[in-house]
Amino acid sequence: MVVDTIRDGVVVSMAYTLTVDGEEVSRADANDPLEYLHGAENIVPGLEAALEGKRPGDKLRVTVPPEDAYGEYDEEDIDEFDLDEIPGAENLEPGMVVEVEDEDGYIYVGTVQEVTEDTVLVDFNPPLAGKTLTFDVEVLGLREASEDELEHGHPHSLDDFYGDDEE
Ligand code: ZN
Repeated sequence: MVVDTIRDGVVVSMAYTLTVDGEEVSRADANDPLEYLHGAENIVPGLEAALEGKRPGDKLRVTVPPEDAYGEYDEEDIDEFDLDEIPGAENLEPGMVVEVEDEDGYIYVGTVQEVTEDTVLVDFNPPLAGKTLTFDVEVLGLREASEDELEHGHPHSLDDFYGDDEE
């Protein structure tokens, strides 16, 4: 069956530019497109909803508010750590990404906000929390997802990108 519109279970190939506050944050060009599995939350909800029913060749600009993207910025989601709790702390600089393990062994990824003599402030908000995202998208191609892809919830053309720990 030929897939001609975007719906759940379809692998979408697209070129896009993501702009935030007037600056380009990321892009995929037509010669190296992004693929995602529609309906599997591979992309932010606001963009996924806007692409529903679109066809190859369609171009669209989608403005996605924070609540349909990475959520509002949460001032409470910043924690202070003693430097000796963080491996490699002597090299920390603002903007660096660090992993912090809690007492239950969960790993949290955050961004260093400030380093003092013996403490570090780590911001656990997603980097684009609180931001309105503008996507310029061109739908390039569609295909039916394979059984494996549906089971994993991501396209298998891009395992490096989505990370495959289930095989
Ligand atoms: Zn997989």
